[in-house]
Amino acid sequence: MAEFYDDHEDQEIEKKEQAKGGDGSQSESSEYEDVCFVCRRPESKAGKMFKLPNNICVCDDCMHKTMDAVSQFDYQGMLNNPNFQKEMDEFSKQNGLPNISFVNLADLQGEGGIPNKQKIKKKKKKEGEKPVLDIRNIPAPHKIKASLDEYVVGQEYAKKVISVAVYNHYKRVATNSMDSIEIEKSNMLMIGPTGCGKTYLVKTLARLLDVPLAIADATSLTEAGYIGDDIESVISKLLAAADNDVEKAEQGIVFIDEIDKIAKKKETHSRDVSGESVQQGMLKLLEGADVEVPVGANSKNAMVPLATVNTRNILFICGGAFPDLEDIIKERLTKSASIGFGAELKDKYDKDKNILSKVTVEDIRKFGMIPEFIGRLPIIFTLQGLTKEMMVKILKEPRNAILKQYQKLLELDEVKLEFTDEAMEAIAEKAMKRDTGARALRSIIEEFMLDIMYEIPKDDNIGTVTITKEYIEGTGGPIIDIRSNLINQTPVSELNVVDE
Ligand code: ADP
Repeated sequence: MAEFYDDHEDQEIEKKEQAKGGDGSQSESSEYEDVCFVCRRPESKAGKMFKLPNNICVCDDCMHKTMDAVSQFDYQGMLNNPNFQKEMDEFSKQNGLPNISFVNLADLQGEGGIPNKQKIKKKKKKEGEKPVLDIRNIPAPHKIKASLDEYVVGQEYAKKVISVAVYNHYKRVATNSMDSIEIEKSNMLMIGPTGCGKTYLVKTLARLLDVPLAIADATSLTEAGYIGDDIESVISKLLAAADNDVEKAEQGIVFIDEIDKIAKKKETHSRDVSGESVQQGMLKLLEGADVEVPVGANSKNAMVPLATVNTRNILFICGGAFPDLEDIIKERLTKSASIGFGAELKDKYDKDKNILSKVTVEDIRKFGMIPEFIGRLPIIFTLQGLTKEMMVKILKEPRNAILKQYQKLLELDEVKLEFTDEAMEAIAEKAMKRDTGARALRSIIEEFMLDIMYEIPKDDNIGTVTITKEYIEGTGGPIIDIRSNLINQTPVSELNVVDE
């Protein structure tokens, strides 16, 4: 904020001006300071001046203020007045002001003119980019699965279920059949341990279909009016992911992670604003409703334009680890089998790794999800926990596998990066111990690749680096192959290859 110069000094300056010529104008050679035409501060106080024609000087602050005011001005209303430019010309002539010419911004913008802020302008579709799977002409489920196979390792059953569900969903959207037989929405519930690829599966699917995807965490959702995001904020996120294109958002996918965290709280006397009531609040979204969402903001307020999004064709996928669900399933299975001659031992299911796949709607209800909520997620399936073999495959097989990414990086330095099979197994074993699924793989690799990525570009002679099991386990180093094929087994940290 520019401070106004105090009265006393102001008067002095004016006196000086009057002594000089009286009209405030100054010549270049004047011994007096320039004074701002707007705030009357001299150059010594206000800093460097902008010199305008007719010896008018304006300080930096006033110039900026003017520019800000001008940029907020309603040109549209003013410029639409045909007499405006004429009046301005007349005015400039009378007052001896320089010719001021106003550019009609509407002309620059073609027919559309300046968009009204309250209207949402659709972005033009990028041309030439074709999605792998076209939702307007959705390919058969086996083709969807084949595309998923390129990225997601294992989880065959989940990929199959999701392919069929997506196929049905987009076929329903495309035909838009509202006749006597209405096809039910294919919302899904995914159950699987952490890091087994739930989010990854949905992300890959959305990318292949080229539909917008919003990922929300159920833990952050609360009933409207309480601290946290209200449920409709997920649709707002989806709209943002669709570049504010309502039509595109209405065919998108919403993934709600950690859905098990909004299970009904057991024996609680306080109001359950982040559990059961969130489930209640989600019911209408899951089924299909018109939702008014703010555009470009998280909360509704008077300043933000609203858009109406219909959720009827939005595919909702919920995912969660459901940690104690196994015990509920076991209890049910042992109970049903503990009567009569067929009675089974109580610990029979303790070692069953695929116990989760035996889940029923009743088990999920017991876990704390309300029946109305489960009813709106008709497709329920489970993902397996990752095995060591799957981990190794995740390392090297998917199209954008982590190892391939590092190989590509070093290839740019003309260095070949190799991993022995034992090394990959060692990485997988380490990751299994962390119990965070495939997420652990990246952090383990990043730990030991740091030295490699730091040291290798130092030396142009290095041709190949082979990562060994010993290097992963910290008992040895990688094999460094010099371009002349000299083999030198040195820990990277001690690497000091001399040019022959
Ligand atoms: P969560 O099941 O907890 O949602 P994510 O899907 O986020 O786990 O998985 C974390 C990361 O692990 C993903 O980004 C992906 O790179 C990798 N990943 C997990 N499972 C698989 C899989 N089956 N195939 C390929 N990559 C996987």
